[in-house]
Amino acid sequence: MSVAAAAAGRQVWRQLARNNTGTSAAIRRTISSLPKSHSQFRPTSLPAFTTTTTTTTSKAVPRLSQSQYRSYSSGGSSGDGTKVKFWPFVVVLAAGTGGWVLLINRQKNMPPNPKQTASSTKPTPAFSPSEVTVLFVLGGPGAGKGTQCANLVTDFSFHHLSAGDLLRAEQDRPGSQYGQLIQDCIKNGAIVPMEVTVALLENAMADAIKKSGSRKARFLIDGFPRKMDQAFQFEKVVCPAKLVLFFDCPEQVMEGRLLERGKTSGRADDNAESIRKRFRTFVETSMPVVEYYEKEGKVIKVDATPGPKEVYEDVKRKLVGKLGENF
Ligand code: UDP
Ligand code: MG
Repeated sequence: MSVAAAAAGRQVWRQLARNNTGTSAAIRRTISSLPKSHSQFRPTSLPAFTTTTTTTTSKAVPRLSQSQYRSYSSGGSSGDGTKVKFWPFVVVLAAGTGGWVLLINRQKNMPPNPKQTASSTKPTPAFSPSEVTVLFVLGGPGAGKGTQCANLVTDFSFHHLSAGDLLRAEQDRPGSQYGQLIQDCIKNGAIVPMEVTVALLENAMADAIKKSGSRKARFLIDGFPRKMDQAFQFEKVVCPAKLVLFFDCPEQVMEGRLLERGKTSGRADDNAESIRKRFRTFVETSMPVVEYYEKEGKVIKVDATPGPKEVYEDVKRKLVGKLGENF
């Protein structure tokens, strides 16, 4: 009877030890899955926590002396077999249970995993679409976005923010920690990490609103978003976009315009090699953004092959057709 009880106790303890190990591994996985950007959620004393687990589960058994171990592992090995000591069994069982309860409680007290609670902690956009109208302006390099934006500013009092211009200004700003990174990306037609561009845009929007003295404002966000992550991030933290103006233009036409512009623009990316890279980035990374918004029914597509005047007539007609005169 006492032998059976001891064996059952051992079995229970092993089960608890297994549970503990499994639980601690799961918690460690949860901790290591926390994104670095949420380091404020990361517990700073992970090793202490791990040590507790190890002590509870693996050190308990070795600390027992050989005779103590035998006393509950086998009645016959306790010497004369008449007296079985129950206290080591109780100690081990208590230690295992205590450790398990401790781990469960710790798990309950763990900081929330931002991935799991994304919906509850979702940031609200900085600007409300009921006050701020945002139009994304997309099209390949040299499609004429900047030129058409200037026309829209005149007729519809938009604020025009070119993501490329903001990045170039940041690149040239003395002391900018992103200067070199931006320079390299622009030269290679690559896309600057979205955090930088989104922050620059948000700041520029806040400045424009502050200067205008009105909470209501219209923005043309030119050359952005060039990648899906930028689109999601901007709409999540800055402002949902109303529409996308897409300037559709064949590469050959755009290349001719860029090489012409390169004669005087002084831009590091208006040269044949950079232009080729920019085209590739546009097709592979930016066109999916246009396609995404097309499925959302938010794209105004304009043929950007003709001259600026003709293109603008089309832009104006389509924009007013979609939003009315007083959007
Ligand atoms: N760029 C970027 N992210 C953006 C917008 C621009 O990284 O959201 C970089 C990219 O390297 C791009 C360059 O800035 O090739 C020039 O952008 P710009 O909009 O000035 O070029 P455009 O399309 O007007 O020729
Ligand atoms: Mg431009």
